[in-house]
Amino acid sequence: MVLAQLGGSISRAIQQMSNATIIDEKVLNECLNEITRALLQADVQFKLVREMQTNIKKIVNLDDLAAGHNKRRIIQQAIFNELCKILDPGKPSFTPKKGKPSVIMFVGLQGSGKTTTCTKYAYYHQKKGWKPALVCADTFRAGAFDQLKQNATKAKIPFYGRYSFDNLLDILSAFENLEIDEFYTESDPVRIAVEGVETFKKENCDLIIVDTSGRHKQEAALFEEMRQVSEATNPDLVIFVMDSSIGQAAFDQAQAFKQSVSVGAVIVTKMDGHAKGGGALSAVAATKSPVIFIGTGEHMDEFEVFDVKPFVSRLLGMGDWSGFMDKIHEVVPMDQQPELLQKLSEGNFTLRIMYEQFQNILKMGPIGQVFSMLPGFSSELMPKGREKESQAKIKRYMTMMDSMTNEGKQLLFMCFAFINNLMAWELTFSFSFFQNSALFLIANVLISDTELDSSNPKLMNDSRIMRIARGSGRQVREVMEMLEEYKRLAKIWSKMKGLKIPKKGEMSALSRNMNA
Ligand code: GDP
Repeated sequence: MVLAQLGGSISRAIQQMSNATIIDEKVLNECLNEITRALLQADVQFKLVREMQTNIKKIVNLDDLAAGHNKRRIIQQAIFNELCKILDPGKPSFTPKKGKPSVIMFVGLQGSGKTTTCTKYAYYHQKKGWKPALVCADTFRAGAFDQLKQNATKAKIPFYGRYSFDNLLDILSAFENLEIDEFYTESDPVRIAVEGVETFKKENCDLIIVDTSGRHKQEAALFEEMRQVSEATNPDLVIFVMDSSIGQAAFDQAQAFKQSVSVGAVIVTKMDGHAKGGGALSAVAATKSPVIFIGTGEHMDEFEVFDVKPFVSRLLGMGDWSGFMDKIHEVVPMDQQPELLQKLSEGNFTLRIMYEQFQNILKMGPIGQVFSMLPGFSSELMPKGREKESQAKIKRYMTMMDSMTNEGKQLLFMCFAFINNLMAWELTFSFSFFQNSALFLIANVLISDTELDSSNPKLMNDSRIMRIARGSGRQVREVMEMLEEYKRLAKIWSKMKGLKIPKKGEMSALSRNMNA
């Protein structure tokens, strides 16, 4: 996502500070100036950025820190806390309860991504076992009902809506012979909303999502319609959807919507495409409205829960364990989850595990999202927008690793040849059956200790590296690059050591512990 750029600049600033031999006032100031520049570029309000800088300097008093203190860690923690403060509205949002019908009304300007987000929201919950339904009360925008219907059908989510009379005329002008009875029309959004909500309540849906009309700009007619739909459907939660590209102007927009209808939560869309995302998020927080999700692409599953601490953690390249665990449950096939978690808990990242995860990434695509939650995986191995390049890189790495597997096979062959010789020798010198079995065992141990199963890259000496390069038809430099990637990922993986294999639902608590 585009915030990777902001995160990258902040992490680089912290890294540069860490590389300094002595962390003094000058080094700290340089680091804070870099961070300030990055935040201003992301359109975060100047006042907030200045406050953050002042607060960090107050907390990190270098003169008072005794020699033994880990200054880097203290500074990093202060930056983390201050960024969280900027993004934290200090108010949780209403959380619907599974099994109990809740009406969720979506509001926002036209083009903000409201209709797309309604389906993403429904789809996200459907995957978690909810029974969502979609109601299209947008009679203003031609094609809104068709769009919602198409999205809902694709995601197998029940929907309710009608063509408005104006839309019908458009449709009829395109199909001369169409029977008018084929369309059930209604242009009163309030009536459609009420009918839809009642229908789905009877069908025991627990998440009834009402998509309302938008307008090109904030205007009285839009707010009046929103107010009427809200009064008639009595929603449990009103979600305001806004486009991140407006940056800190989000403050005024969010305020205006809040004053017209009781907005309880915000979803910020298009975080994948705009450099002003940081500004939008901080501006929304300043209105004391909790951001609950962010949209990170046009596809149905490009939608992420927004939780301040894990988000900042990811931004600073420190990973997001809670998101990671949730994604494992969401994306990795059920039968593969226990094995993957088991391997994670062992913390022993072999080249074979890297190979298997690369296979998953290539096969299933979305698993990339799982690893994007890990520090380092997203920004370097699989940057968004460069998926093709990343895939080619992964395939290149796998070819090199295939050549290591071949070495394993060669070793296997050599062992059998060796045992065969011994058996021939046995015929002559009457080797016992027991001794022969022991030899088989040793051979098997040797086979399992091939390069792919090793977690010690130091074993890769120059001659092995050259052989892998020759075997895969790649350059030595490329093999070394692959091994560097392996070392980087192994370091991340090692943080998972001791992971208690959790049950569904236990994820967040566990992950937060890991973040601490
Ligand atoms: P509405 O008028 O507010 O209902 O907006 P739509 O749902 O029709 O979305 C407008 C455009 O924004 C469509 O092309 C969507 O595919 C696109 N869109 C919605 N959310 C996102 C997002 O998170 N990222 C990106 N890149 N595009 C999005």
